[in-house]
Amino acid sequence: MSQALMPLYARAQIEVERGEGVWLEARDGRRFLDCVAGIATCSLGHAHPGLVAALTAQAHKLWHVSNIFRIPGQEELAEKLTGATFADLVYFANSGTEAVEAAIKTARRYHFAKGNPERIDVIGFAGSFHGRTYAAINASGNPTYLEGFGPRLPGFHQMSVDDLPALAEAIARPTTAAVIVEPVQGEGGARALSGEFLLELRRLTREHGVLLIHDEVQSGMGRTGKLFAHQWFPGAEPDIMAIAKALGGGFPIGACLTTAEAASGMVTGVHGTTFGGNPLAMAVGLAVFDVIAQDAALAHVGAMSDRFYSGFAALAARYPDQIVETRGKGLLMGLKLHANNREVMALAREHGLLVAGGGENCVRMLPSLLITAEEVDEALSRLDATLADARARGWGQVDAASAVAA
Ligand SMILES: *Cc1c(COP(=O)(O)O)cnc(C)c1O
Repeated sequence: MSQALMPLYARAQIEVERGEGVWLEARDGRRFLDCVAGIATCSLGHAHPGLVAALTAQAHKLWHVSNIFRIPGQEELAEKLTGATFADLVYFANSGTEAVEAAIKTARRYHFAKGNPERIDVIGFAGSFHGRTYAAINASGNPTYLEGFGPRLPGFHQMSVDDLPALAEAIARPTTAAVIVEPVQGEGGARALSGEFLLELRRLTREHGVLLIHDEVQSGMGRTGKLFAHQWFPGAEPDIMAIAKALGGGFPIGACLTTAEAASGMVTGVHGTTFGGNPLAMAVGLAVFDVIAQDAALAHVGAMSDRFYSGFAALAARYPDQIVETRGKGLLMGLKLHANNREVMALAREHGLLVAGGGENCVRMLPSLLITAEEVDEALSRLDATLADARARGWGQVDAASAVAA
């Protein structure tokens, strides 16, 4: 492996060469069923013909012009996103963390514009992930992402989703600007927050004039079977939402959606980007949106999710020594394991199955939203083989295994 790359990732030893649908092929010819999908990003699978056509058609016309010009694709995609959500306005960026950054800036700037510059505090939650910029790592509050990067930024506070009284107290403080939450925690281990919690958060933030930011970078764009995860709970709509990943189908894109009111402070010149919303990204984003926003596509996600979860239930019954619990929502699925999740991920690769890691010793499965029933069954059968292999190696919880044997 080249020594010329910063050694920031624990990379799997697969030289990925090409992909088609849910399948990835390595240089050495090995084929893998991909339930990572670029971490919930290749929402229509690999090399989707419609996306290839949209990207190449745009590539022949125009790549990039800068936001000092009107970009028709941005206007069109913004209309579609606002038409399908609570939002009135959209800002396009290149990544999830930039969308989060814009969301936090929008929130602070709102209070500034309203004459309350003391309202700067952003409340985040333990177990959350918002990306790797300074604001995002401070909002996530995961100590391992903060270590060595200088002092923590002022104005960021972490709460627990399980401590509502403390949360209510923090929201009521006169310096609080916003709460940022993933309706389904992704990197934290596919943890779906309850509708009850999300609705209570909405009620409390509204009561105290605090803005609510949903980070739907991972849970959004059809991943849970609704276009956005919060749409499962009418009334839970945020003021600001960060999205990315699936919106680009594998092309870098991010977006910050807001109500007109929440964007009160975002006037000409206060924020911007060179690449964000460039014509190539917009061409792909429009093509992705038009596929995912169909009722039939969202219903398909629900059906495939049901198929996965009934398979998981059967596996959990057969492998209580391996599976602690199954969690998640839609096709943002998690299995909490007894054995080390990194080792199980590597073992799954030997069985031709790619799964992602996650917090709390989970593996996550985040396949293409277009995965077929046959491919779901194939993924479950490869998972079954992986768990059997893990047991044969003596991994997992030994007591449960002997209980099953007895
Ligand atoms: C992936 C992710 C991000 C960061 O997105 P990048 O494109 O890697 O910057 C932010 N929030 C959530 C919920 C994510 O899953």
